Amino acid sequence: MPEWLAEWISKDRLVGSKFRISKRYLRQSKRIQQISVEESEDGSLIASHYVVHSPKYGRYNVRFDNGVYICNCPFFKHRRICSHILGVSQKTGVWPTKESIFDES
Ligand SMILES: [Zn+2]
Repeated sequence: MPEWLAEWISKDRLVGSKFRISKRYLRQSKRIQQISVEESEDGSLIASHYVVHSPKYGRYNVRFDNGVYICNCPFFKHRRICSHILGVSQKTGVWPTKESIFDES
């Protein structure tokens, strides 16, 4: 995990709780389902699509495109990160960039 993200998780209580929820998704691997993955010739990730099954709220779509993660859950709108993105990131080792979350432009 990138250092800025570990720090954010430890400082922001809501993001920290989403991180704990993401661990539950990881423990039950069927909850994170790969739909599609697009890689470049050198094997780096261009785009991906995962569906994360939340026991309470149903299915959420996590999409990665050119370094930016997007999820269609309500929490994502507030912080640009969520338990679903954190789950996919830990599963795949592909993390969101700091710029994609904090750049206001
Ligand atoms: Zn989400």
